[in-house]
Amino acid sequence: MFQDIFDQYNWDEVKQSIYGKTSADVETALRKNKRSLEDFKALISPAATPYLEQMALLSNRLTQKRFGKTIQLYIPLYLSNECQNICTYCGFSLHNKIARKTLSAFEIVQEADYLKQLGFEHVLIVTGEANKTVGVDYLENAVTLLKKQFANVSMEVQPLEQEAYESLISCGLHTVLVYQETYHSADYKLHHTKGKKSNFNYRLATPDRLGKAGIHKIGLGVLIGLEDWRTDNFFTALHLQYLERMYWQTRYSISFPRLRPAEGLIEPKVVMNDKELVQLVCAWRIFNEEVELSMSTRETEKFRDHIIQLGITGMSAGSRTNPGGYVTAVESLEQFEIDDDRSPAEVVNMIEQTGYKAVWKDWEAFA
Ligand code: SF4
Repeated sequence: MFQDIFDQYNWDEVKQSIYGKTSADVETALRKNKRSLEDFKALISPAATPYLEQMALLSNRLTQKRFGKTIQLYIPLYLSNECQNICTYCGFSLHNKIARKTLSAFEIVQEADYLKQLGFEHVLIVTGEANKTVGVDYLENAVTLLKKQFANVSMEVQPLEQEAYESLISCGLHTVLVYQETYHSADYKLHHTKGKKSNFNYRLATPDRLGKAGIHKIGLGVLIGLEDWRTDNFFTALHLQYLERMYWQTRYSISFPRLRPAEGLIEPKVVMNDKELVQLVCAWRIFNEEVELSMSTRETEKFRDHIIQLGITGMSAGSRTNPGGYVTAVESLEQFEIDDDRSPAEVVNMIEQTGYKAVWKDWEAFA
């Protein structure tokens, strides 16, 4: 289990080691063909800031070598904003007095029809954690309904048991995103004060349960803004390295969500600027040539237009972060504000103008 490895590390020592990296460490990391976790620390360190252009060129080259000039498109489909957890940064948090909504099967199909007509083949189910109304049965039904229309169904919901994942995979589930939010266990507790999500270790072990269940792809990441992003990304890399060795048949993706405004939200403890996010994306690509890197509509148009060439392989487009936000309940409360509100067609146009190909579908499961 990853917990055994995680317990061998101390947050403050890791942080000190990252901030102690020198330009010589960065140059060594850039020269190598295969990079270690120590090299990754150098690439995300403040010492790497003057090397950003060199990192961007290398990241661009490595990404094109493995993925070509392609950007895979997906869209989130929020099914419910009911949640039994209190998370300080989320508009769906239990203590927020908002109207709660969970889509019925009929509404799921209505939303799906709309997204399909926009051209999407890759849909990401998102819910809060409300096991009585949005439990495993509800999710199985949703995956089964959506699998009839979409080539690829992913899920970002509460952590589940291995048997539940096995059952959802048999319904057609392809990918599960489970972000640790922060690997700083004490700060994690400050931000997750009530509900099942307050169990740090259960969340930490979720990718292990997914790997054992035989999921096709796992998405990892932290919520940037809760803690020092460099240290948090080191732990994400440590987690990924463990998972790749342990569950080698599974693919992996990394996301970089920065804390966004939402109803009842806290201010970020740490603010990451655009240049630092570029550094992080490039560092990930240079560290790992195989991992998929994804960028959501949380980011601005301008930022997304530029990051395409620097290592990203997947993007959402035209997203709504409220249940029924596309057709059935457009006014319901969103989880967080999006920044890039262009239509999918406009995003595709931008991708093509940049010389890349927008990929709607890269997966088909055969019975
Ligand atoms: S982040 Fe997820 S678990 Fe936490 S309040 Fe929001 S929807 Fe619920």
